[in-house]
Amino acid sequence: MRAVVMYAPGDVRVDETERPTIVEPTDAVIKLAATCICGSDLWPYRGIDKVDHQAMGHEYVGTVEEVGSAVHNVKVGDFVVGSFFSSDNTCEICRSGYQTYCVHRGPGAVPGAQADFARIPNADGTLVATPGQPTPDLIPSLLAASDVLGTGWFAAVAAEVGPGKTVAVVGDGAVGLLGVLAAKQLGAERIIAMSRHADRQALARKFGATDIVEERGDAGVARIKELTGGLGAHSTIEAVGTQESMMQAIRSTRAGGHVGYVGVSHDVSLPGQELFRSGVHLHGGPAPVRRFLPELIQLIWDRTIDPGAVFDLTLPIDQAAEGYRAMDERRATKVLLTV
Ligand SMILES: [Zn+2]
Repeated sequence: MRAVVMYAPGDVRVDETERPTIVEPTDAVIKLAATCICGSDLWPYRGIDKVDHQAMGHEYVGTVEEVGSAVHNVKVGDFVVGSFFSSDNTCEICRSGYQTYCVHRGPGAVPGAQADFARIPNADGTLVATPGQPTPDLIPSLLAASDVLGTGWFAAVAAEVGPGKTVAVVGDGAVGLLGVLAAKQLGAERIIAMSRHADRQALARKFGATDIVEERGDAGVARIKELTGGLGAHSTIEAVGTQESMMQAIRSTRAGGHVGYVGVSHDVSLPGQELFRSGVHLHGGPAPVRRFLPELIQLIWDRTIDPGAVFDLTLPIDQAAEGYRAMDERRATKVLLTV
């Protein structure tokens, strides 16, 4: 089968590899219907995270090909969506809604999903079958649910988005844009998207943004304050993961407000004094996408939401290297790979 492998920073190739097989009785093997490149894949691509012949991809939808002897909740032929972290969905941590921290989650994110087939550990807990076989137009949205939609949704929930609230969104990548969509669905009154790219601003508006702020850093904070009577947002979604974006999020939030942070943190160091005096709640981390999957799948199935609109470039998996280049050079927000 074909699999995307990052040999080294900037060096992405499509290799011919062995098709995965059942290893544990709790595994399933799925045939991917489509896969995609994550913003977080750019950290190793840019040499910020170490990488050496890494099988890439952790976002997936597809059809169950084979199940282990202990798998009962999904069966061969089911169309499934899974979270990028595997979880049993039964342990105490999973039942509290924090499946990312499942005591049986294994080594981390599901590996090697930019491929024709993928092995999914903890299949019973990780995979959710769709109500039937999706029509092709639903596949991008279901694929988005696997990570970026679920992550944006968690950020909005962590930021306590709700009716009557003003929400600021730091970051205009796929997660930030879908944070806008989540905020809209969760009833936010006003959604301020922080973006300086015309195409991303347009998508943010389509997803429900009421205001756009182009400034960033201190100027961006000043603009948010100006738009909120000097108070700051009730809820801020942080979807970048840098020192600047994190401080921008905290400073854009009013006292008593909440920051939901989901940008993978890189060299962020929070000043204690400022945090102490901010009166802001912080909650975030790797999103427990599994918590939200049944609800998100239904919203997509009913065509209430169209998160698949974040994919602005579709390429055959054989051209994965071009997909990485396009995202790295910001020519594309998110790249869907067909298999
Ligand atoms: Zn668990």
